[in-house]
Amino acid sequence: MTLVMKFGGTSVGDAAAMRRTAGLIAHSQKEMGATAVVVSAMSKVTDLLLRGAHGAAVGDEDGFRQAARELREKHGAAVNELLARHPERPAVAAELNQFIDRFEALCQAVLILGELTPRALDAVSGMGEQMSARILAAYLRREGYDAQALDAAELIVTDNNFQSAAPLMPETAAQCQRRLRPLLDSGVIPIITGFIGATVDGVLTTLGRGGSDYSAAILGQALAANEVWIWTDVDGVMTADPRYVPTARTIPQLTYREVAELAYYGAKVLHPKTIRPVIENGIPLRIKNSFNPDHPGTLIVGDNVAANGAIKAVTAVANLALITVEGKGMMGVPGIAARAFGAVADKQVSVLLISQASSEQSISFAVPGDAAERVIASLEQAFAAELQRQDVDRIWAQREVTIVTVVGAGMRGTPGIAGQIFSALGQNGVNVIAIAQGSSECGISLVVDAADGGTAVNHIHALI
Ligand code: ASP
Ligand code: MG
Repeated sequence: MTLVMKFGGTSVGDAAAMRRTAGLIAHSQKEMGATAVVVSAMSKVTDLLLRGAHGAAVGDEDGFRQAARELREKHGAAVNELLARHPERPAVAAELNQFIDRFEALCQAVLILGELTPRALDAVSGMGEQMSARILAAYLRREGYDAQALDAAELIVTDNNFQSAAPLMPETAAQCQRRLRPLLDSGVIPIITGFIGATVDGVLTTLGRGGSDYSAAILGQALAANEVWIWTDVDGVMTADPRYVPTARTIPQLTYREVAELAYYGAKVLHPKTIRPVIENGIPLRIKNSFNPDHPGTLIVGDNVAANGAIKAVTAVANLALITVEGKGMMGVPGIAARAFGAVADKQVSVLLISQASSEQSISFAVPGDAAERVIASLEQAFAAELQRQDVDRIWAQREVTIVTVVGAGMRGTPGIAGQIFSALGQNGVNVIAIAQGSSECGISLVVDAADGGTAVNHIHALI
């Protein structure tokens, strides 16, 4: 059995969190066998590093000196508490100070040059993980476990797209077999830096903000792990946002496509890109709560698994506007939609939902509310001739709308789900302005007036 576990910033955020995390790691290795651990930087550390570097680029020396002081204090406090009276303490403290010295030296160089390259940003921002991994590994050794900090720069080989590097999987798998597998086989617990990798030439890269989840999935695939566990501070993915729906509960199992649909419509779940490596290889991924470790959390699996239950979750995205282009002269004219979306894309605005009536007399789509003016101006320009000829009668926005999305792969092939949803809304006085169903039939999205958003979510949730 090989398990990859990832702990986020709050799970290593201070000495107390690291102690709890160490306990979970030790327990897992005992119960499950070979366990590779991926850690994020201590909470807020990546932000501090980035802010310091960006400040340096515009001449703010005080800013990065202050950031360095905060970094020394935060890591120093964790080391002093976790490694008190431990012979390794001075060496670990010295190593961390070297990282922070280097942070200051890099910022100083940026300050003098007045230029911050993506490559320098990666060198700076990856230090948080390099520090947290060293502290946690030393603490585990103190507790009697054979743990070893390992830089993912030695394991994850990436392209040189700094700040958002993509893994080169065959190279990464080879590195993991060479460098990581022997450690696991000999009972060592590797504590691996999340977020970072290195190019073929060994230059440090990062996988993008929040990239430690991605690191865990990449390593899971490279090791052909049996499972990947993402430890966080909630009991997995919820059926709805508990701030709006008090009866929301954990979803025991989700498919990859459901996760993608939920993520797209604003639910706080793992980014689909980050989990694709494991899901495509049939490796189950579990989201668990490090503050409530006995809870089974949410299991994410591939798509070819029988879905249990029809509706799994309901989400809402607020602060949107629904833009409509309408006119009798649009019927049967090819290219209207292409030109409309071209005009939206020109303004760098992304469209969240599209709906067209079969009469082809109107086409509606949802965009972020603060983009509505820009989009309408752009559309009016694109359709100036049609507006003049009155082939297009009107381009207008309904402001303050919310998209409510109902997600569940089991909706496919289960008749009547849409009916239940619309009855629930109708009975409770919610007017549906527009509808869209993805072709995967794994979600239905409804546009409602912003004032009805909460009511809609709660009544649909009652159907789960
Ligand atoms: N520390 C990195 C970040 O804050 C990566 C992560 O936490 O996943 O973006
Ligand atoms: Mg994260």
